[in-house]
Amino acid sequence: MKIARITTHVLRVPLGDLHFYSSQAAFPERTSLLVRIESDNGLVGWGEGGQYGPPEPVASAIDDVLAPLLIGKAADDPVAVWERLYAFSRDFGQKGTYVEALSAIDIALWDLTGKAQGRPVHALLGGAFRDRITAYATGCYYREDFRDSASMLRNLQAEAETYANAGFGILKMKVGLLSVQEDAERVACVRKAIGDDISLLVDANHAYSATTAIRMGRALEEHGVLWFEEPVVPEDRDGYRRVREALDVPIAGGEAEFTRYGFRDLVAGGCVDIVQPDLCVSGGISEFVKIHALASTFGVLTVPHVWGSGIALAAGIQALATVPPTPHTYAPVPLQNEPVIEYDRTSNPLRDELLVENFGLEDGHLVVPQGPGLGVTVDEDVLCRYETS
Ligand code: MG
Repeated sequence: MKIARITTHVLRVPLGDLHFYSSQAAFPERTSLLVRIESDNGLVGWGEGGQYGPPEPVASAIDDVLAPLLIGKAADDPVAVWERLYAFSRDFGQKGTYVEALSAIDIALWDLTGKAQGRPVHALLGGAFRDRITAYATGCYYREDFRDSASMLRNLQAEAETYANAGFGILKMKVGLLSVQEDAERVACVRKAIGDDISLLVDANHAYSATTAIRMGRALEEHGVLWFEEPVVPEDRDGYRRVREALDVPIAGGEAEFTRYGFRDLVAGGCVDIVQPDLCVSGGISEFVKIHALASTFGVLTVPHVWGSGIALAAGIQALATVPPTPHTYAPVPLQNEPVIEYDRTSNPLRDELLVENFGLEDGHLVVPQGPGLGVTVDEDVLCRYETS
C-alpha cells in the first residue's frame, strides 16, 4: 500500500457572539488544519495539526515541502515516516509549524494503517486499558463581561452549573486574565456552583511569573483544586520547578511543547506532575507513545491536551485508551492515577459536526471507538461547508 495523494483542508468557523477569551487571547473563530492521505488501494486516512496559530503555514509545510517527499512511499509505516521527516526538518523545524505538519501526517498514516488492517489505532499500539474514558469539561473561559465583576460571576456560576448538570465529574476553568484576587473570586464562585463532589482543575495559559503563580496557587489550594495548568511560560523550566516546589497542588503543562526532546526537559527537569502533549501539535501518535514512555519512567501521568476538531478528539481518545493507570492500582481513580480525556466545551462546530459519529458524553465518559483506524468518519459535506481553501 503506497501513498497516492495528500491534500490539506483549512477549516475556519467564526464564533460571533460565542467568542471567548483565555488569559492570552480572544477567540473570535475556531480553525483546524486537516490532512487527507489517500493510498493507491483507495483507502483514506485523516489527520489534524496546526490548531494554535493560523493553519495556513502548516498547510504550506505539508503541501509544498513534506507531501512531495511522501508520494509513492509506504502508507503503513507511520513511525518510519516520522523519523525520516523529522530528520529532514530537524535543522529548521524542531518546534512549531513543521512538527505540527508532521503531527497531522502521522495521525493520518495511523488512521490509514488501521483501516488497511481492519483494527483500531489503540489495538495497533498494543491494546487498550479501557473502552471508555472519564471526560473532563473544559470551559468557564472569560466572556465579553469580564470587566463587569457582578455580571461575570453570575454568568460563570450559571455556566459551571450546566457542566455539573450534564454529568461531568471534573471541570477545568480559566484564570490569568484578571488580578490574582479577582481570579480567586472566580474560582470560589465555580467551586460554590459545582459543590465539593466535582473535581476542579485550573488553567492559567502561562499568565504568571513564578512568584505570582505561587500566590495564585495558594488560593487554588484553599479551594481543593486538583491541578494547576501552565502556571508560567513554557520556556521557563526554572519557574515551573519553583512553582512546583512551593505548592501542594499538582502542576500540569506541556500543551505548548514539542516532541520527546521538548518533553524530556519538562519531565526530567522535575517541572510537572502531569504532562499534556497535544497529539496534533507535539508530533502525532508516534511521538505520543514515546512521550508517554518517558513520562511513565518519571512517575508523571500523561493526559493529552485536546483542542481541535473531531479528528483531534478521536486521536486523543485512541492514544489515551492505551495509557495504563500510573501507578497501577486494582481500582484506579480518575485524575489520581487514571487518565482522563479533555472535552472542550466552548463552541466548536468542527468538533461537534465534522464526524458522522460525533462524540457525546455518556455518564461522564467518552466511548473509545472500536472501528478501524481512528474509528471515525469525516462528513465531507460538513468539511466543504467550513473549508476556506
Ligand atoms: Mg491549557
